[in-house]
This record gives sequence, C-alpha cells and structure tokens, in this order.
Amino acid sequence: MELKLFKSVLKPEFLPDKWYNIVPELPEPLPPPLDPQTLRPVSISKLERLFAKELIKQEVATDVFIKIPEDVREAYVELGRPTPLFRAHRLEIALKTPAKIYFKYEGVLPTGAHKVNTAIAQVYYNKLQDVERVVTETGAGQWGSALALAGAMYGVKVRVFMVKSSYMQKPYRRILMEIYGAEVYPSPSTITSVGREILKEDHEHPGSLGIAISEAIEDVLSDEKSRYCLGSVLNHVLLHQTVIGLETKHQMEELGEYPDYVIGCVGGGSNFAGISYPFIRDRLKGKSETKFIAVEPKAAPTMTRGKCMYDYGDTGRLTPLLKMHTIGHMYRVPPIHAGGLRYHGVAPTISILVKHGIVEPIAYHQNEAFEAAVFFAKHEGIVPAPESAHAVKAAIDIARKLKEKKTILFNLSGHGLLDLLGYQEYLEGKLPDYEPKKIDLTYLPKTT
Ligand SMILES: *Cc1c(COP(=O)(O)O)cnc(C)c1O
Repeated sequence: MELKLFKSVLKPEFLPDKWYNIVPELPEPLPPPLDPQTLRPVSISKLERLFAKELIKQEVATDVFIKIPEDVREAYVELGRPTPLFRAHRLEIALKTPAKIYFKYEGVLPTGAHKVNTAIAQVYYNKLQDVERVVTETGAGQWGSALALAGAMYGVKVRVFMVKSSYMQKPYRRILMEIYGAEVYPSPSTITSVGREILKEDHEHPGSLGIAISEAIEDVLSDEKSRYCLGSVLNHVLLHQTVIGLETKHQMEELGEYPDYVIGCVGGGSNFAGISYPFIRDRLKGKSETKFIAVEPKAAPTMTRGKCMYDYGDTGRLTPLLKMHTIGHMYRVPPIHAGGLRYHGVAPTISILVKHGIVEPIAYHQNEAFEAAVFFAKHEGIVPAPESAHAVKAAIDIARKLKEKKTILFNLSGHGLLDLLGYQEYLEGKLPDYEPKKIDLTYLPKTT
C-alpha cells in the first residue's frame, strides 16, 4: 500500500537563497517613517544610531529580492529549516469539510516560534559591524528568547527589557533567555530614566510593550556600541520572515497544490507577512484570486477597529512614527494570553494591503481561539501557541463554511507548550473575554 503524502519536508538544498521584498510591488508607495522630534521624514543617520546599517538598507530597499547571506542560510538549516508543511487530514475529517487544510509549522524551531528567522539575520548584521550588545523588549518572551539564542550563536551580548507582569507570571521564557546568556530586566526597570519616572508614580506598574520599547531605546542611545532590535512591524523584519512563505510555495508545488486561502495571526504582522507575501505577489500580478485572512484579537483590534495614521511605536515617544493601523500608543491592551498579539499597531505594508482590500482582517475573542486550538490539538497532536490559536480558529471557521473543494493554508507560528497556564484557565472556564474599549486617537500628532 502506498503511504499517503500528508507532509512535505524540503531538503536543505531547497532553502530559499533570497528573501522577498514586497515594498516596491505594493499598490501604492509606502509613506516614510517620521522623526519623533521634527515630524519630518527621519534621516538615515538617525536610524543608523538605532539599527545596524545593513538592516536600514533593507528597510528602504527597492530590490524585489534580497540575497540571504550564506552564513544566515547555514544557521537556518542548523536550527531546523526548512520547516515542515503538514496536511491536517484528521482535522478535515473531524470538520466534515470538503476543503483541504495545510499548515506550515514554525514551532519546530528551538525557541518554539518563527521569531528566530529574523533574530538570526539581525544579530548577524550587527556582528558584521562590530556591535557589542543588542537590546530589545519582549512581552511574553518569544522574541526575547529568539534574540537571546541568536546572540549566543554569534557571540553578541543581549539585553532584554521584559514586561514586568510577564516577568513575574511567566517565568519559563525568562529562564530560557537566561540559559542562552541574556540579561533580562523587568520593565519598568530602575536602569533607565523612562523606567524610573514611571516607577516614581506607580512602583507596582505592571509594564507594557510600549514602555519596554522606550527603555530599550534609551539604553541603546546611551551606549555607542549597542544597537536596538525589533521583532516585528518593520519592513526588514517582515522581509526576513518571507523565508516561511517561499518554502511553503515550493512545498505546495511539490504536492501539486495552490492555496485558495492563506491565513495567519497578526501581532505586528511578521508571521502573517512571512507566509502570505510570496502568495500576495501572485495576486498583485493578477495571477491568482487567493484570499488573505489576517487574524487579530478583539482585545487589540488594530486592523478591524483602528485607523491608519502616523503613530509612535512606544509609550515614551522615542521611536520614529510609522503610518499604520493603530489603536493608539496609549491604549491599555488587556492581559490576554496571546502576548505576541498585544501590540497597538501593525506593519505599514499590511496596513496598505488592508486598505486595498487584498488582506482581509478579522478578530476573535481569546476563548473561541483557545476552543479551536484544543479541537486542533485533539486531532493533530500539536498544541498551538495562544497567538497561533487565532489563525487556527479562522481556518476552522472557513473550512466549516466551505461547500466546495478549496485549499486552505495557515501558519502555525509556534507551539503552546510554555503557555499551558492559559490553557488551564480556558479549560477551567476562568478565562475572561475583553470587549473592545473606546479608541481615542485625538492625542496623535497632526501630520499631513
Ligand atoms: C510573536 C508571535 C506572534 C505575533 O507576532 P507577529 O510579528 O505578528 O508574527 C505570533 N505567533 C507567535 C507564536 C509569536 O511568538
């Protein structure tokens, strides 16, 4: 009997040798980032004080494909790329759907999610220009642990400001960062003036991503040999993540498939862009009618309820402003378990694609996302990260409604084995759903 092919594992030789840069192919030009002091387009030299030079080049690149350095490709393979593409056949049967469901699984990477794809590249370019320390923020710790691992691989020091509520309640990823040798500070911390100001007013402040970013930036600006790294939102981060979709395209071709739906969860947008942009390229060229579904939590409804405006990336207003769908940098996002989806903004390239109707956003409550994730785990074995659970929910909803044989592809951006406390609360019926709050954007600067 012939074994049915429910999985595609590419040989390392098939690892892409270029990333895909969607920026020059967007339906309209990308508005430039603005200087937080002057509100005019930010100068390259100012950006170079924050980020490695090569990353700034990629941020503003006009080439459609950008070569992946051999060193980075090697590290990708050492860490487990290409990642597998699975067909969720048992799930299809359980759903009684005529649709085929495929998922790309990034949870096989050492820190359990897609974030190492960009961490490796970012640390590599920093190392090339002799940066001694990279500094960043992290919420639940997925990004911090990915950067900590990359730092350990390239011998670059890593400092992480971790949102204090997560630092206290979710110790496992903090421990993971420390295993890799990173320094981890609970944010707000006492080592920056932004942190000290906030602690003076409220010494029990639980922290937020916006505050942790401000601390990381202040820290970098005080040390010439340090640079800042960001785990999502920016063009170069999304660029690096396209390795996911480029591999998937190849894998689907091998299986004789092409997706009618591509689905991903969206925090800052990097894993969604990673899987979808190589397929969106075909749609932009009129070669497909694939639908692209971007899934966010109702607790941080940037694409479904926010507006596309210039906003700061952080609470302290130290970062350049980006034109993006935002709910405002002062929005207090409730403490949902999908920590990676709690950001107030979204990647500017995704904002443009939403505006043009190419990317269709939807939002779910965390209980319905966990319910879908538990159903998925029972049939497919893998426990999804609470973030990825949002994509699972959308894939299941679409599969249930379909009456025709269509092909659904979603990105399973990470596993949830370090998030079992969230699952426990869900199973015990103790998980709150948060209704969206009123969105106030009147405090954002007036830009023309
Ligand atoms: C960080 C994270 C996300 C959200 O970030 P994006 O940049 O939107 O991809 C999603 N899933 C997992 C597992 C994450 O760790």
